[in-house]
Amino acid sequence: MGLVACRRCARVWPGSARRCGRCGHGLRSRDVMALQKVWALWVVGLICYIPANIYTMLETRTLVSSQTNTVIGGALELGHHGDWGVAMVILVASVGIPISKFIVIAMLAYGIRNRSFLSPERRQLMHELVEYIGRWSMIDVFVVAILSALVHLGALVSIQPGIAALFFAMSVIFTMLSAMCFDSRLIWDSMVDDLPPEIRPKSAHPQADRANKPEEGATA
Ligand SMILES: [Zn+2]
Repeated sequence: MGLVACRRCARVWPGSARRCGRCGHGLRSRDVMALQKVWALWVVGLICYIPANIYTMLETRTLVSSQTNTVIGGALELGHHGDWGVAMVILVASVGIPISKFIVIAMLAYGIRNRSFLSPERRQLMHELVEYIGRWSMIDVFVVAILSALVHLGALVSIQPGIAALFFAMSVIFTMLSAMCFDSRLIWDSMVDDLPPEIRPKSAHPQADRANKPEEGATA
């Protein structure tokens, strides 16, 4: 596969080299564990996303009353008060974007070892989009943090972040790590034959698979 760079000292070696001649670090062109890491972080992100929606995101205490809101509950309540614009922003940022990210990352990871109905160009674009959106996904958490820092009128009103804010932040972090672990070069590798078996697509190149297997009559 042409050239391979050492991950420790960045010296470039021919693709067949197994060890860096300068620093002794083992050389490998692709991380064969990349997909496992992507799936593991994806699952943790999804698990964190469930309590982020079930538990309290915002706790508002006034002199006479105390109110707790989940993300969706709070957005719907804003809608009932006529603020549908703000409610839509909250719903898109805390439901629409995270769920689309889960779906896109799963599609990308699944498409590496199985046939994907999307072209490599389109999958590359989707990966870049997910990585770009990642940094904007904490908007909910920022809003809660700013509100609870600003609204501290002593005994009159106080806004406290709920436990869901922590789970939401964790879910965003794990989803970002999952997208970062995804090596977009794997998308293009389905066009190359000499890959380690751990990351080679199952059926993209049947003729190459046949060529790598020993001939049936050879051992007889
Ligand atoms: Zn090196």
